Amino acid sequence: MLFDEGVKENPNDFYNRERELELFRKGIVEGRRLILVLGIRRIGKSSLVKVALNTLKIPYAYADVRSIYREYKYIPSYAIGLLVEDILKTIIKKYKWKQIIEYLKSIKEVSIMGLQVKLNAKPSHLPYTLTKIFNTLNEWAKDNSQRIVLVLDEAQYLRFSKINFRSIIAYIYDNLQNLTLVLTGSEVGLLHDFLKINDPQSELYGRYTYEITLTRLSISQSIEFLIKGFREYGIEPPREIIEEAANTFNGIIGWLVYFGRTCIDKGLTREAINETLIKGSTLVKEELSELYNRSKRYKYVLEAIANGLNTWSKIKRYLLAKELKPIYDSALHEILLMLQKMGLIEKRLSPQGDIIYAITDPVVEYTIKQGLI
Ligand code: ADP
Ligand code: MG
Repeated sequence: MLFDEGVKENPNDFYNRERELELFRKGIVEGRRLILVLGIRRIGKSSLVKVALNTLKIPYAYADVRSIYREYKYIPSYAIGLLVEDILKTIIKKYKWKQIIEYLKSIKEVSIMGLQVKLNAKPSHLPYTLTKIFNTLNEWAKDNSQRIVLVLDEAQYLRFSKINFRSIIAYIYDNLQNLTLVLTGSEVGLLHDFLKINDPQSELYGRYTYEITLTRLSISQSIEFLIKGFREYGIEPPREIIEEAANTFNGIIGWLVYFGRTCIDKGLTREAINETLIKGSTLVKEELSELYNRSKRYKYVLEAIANGLNTWSKIKRYLLAKELKPIYDSALHEILLMLQKMGLIEKRLSPQGDIIYAITDPVVEYTIKQGLI
């Protein structure tokens, strides 16, 4: 069903994105080494990756890096260890790959009993053990003329790990021909900063990334998506409500799903749009509060923009009013840049041709404008 919450896995539940699916499949089939799937939150990255890999029937392992960060507020090595155990368990269970267990058993630090996997590596040895595991997976893939895909979802959070993942990624890129790494990122600028492809000092300097960027649905696609979703429940939706919802949620498919679900559960009314905004704002609040804890300035800048004070000078004046002292241009520049890298704001041109800043997600805008955070 199109309105099912959660990451989509099945192509029947997945709307459109034909071009991006094709690009992704092509990248995998051609054996690209490092694929990036980029786009703001709730635009459908995780779903695209899973749907595409499921249709390709290629063995893959999936790890959600953000969930570790959420739990621990950094990326502890033992959590990486647990994650790798989980991945290996999935691999063994899901694919029953011929001899893969035998291959894994050859690693001293990995013990396997039935479907249980245990890593016996000290945190300081973990990078070395990880490299061994990846080598082994690659060996198996090579011997079986296969390709294994490793997905690191929301990979920008790897920057909070003590393990140098950039160097592990570079090792895989350079040496393990039968592995493809897929990294997704909502905070596109931060993911690029982490990989440092353009930095001569970086282990990944000069490597080629195959990038797929997901953009919003157009208004007419949003309307079509909603109509199709409601029809799955035998509902012929009134045009005005659908159009209003399409305009409100600005092509972010995750919110359209949220709206659809709300209607299925509580009735298809205009009120459901408001309810979606309110319920959505509780999610958004959680995501923003972490940022606000880092500096109140992020809050002030987002407040200014949400309330239409969206040029450089207006934002600066708003900050002055809040902090009662002028902010340096360089400091304001840093804050705006960080918000852009996080995908929270984007630059646009006003009808007069001036640069203005806009909040990318309508639910984020609503939350801030309503003073809910
Ligand atoms: P992201 O990983 O970019 O944050 P997700 O893949 O988690 O986005 O998708 C956000 C929400 O939107 C989920 O509820 C998911 O089911 C839904 N969704 C994403 N893409 C599609 C699609 N093409 N068709 C139907 N639902 C989708
Ligand atoms: Mg995701």
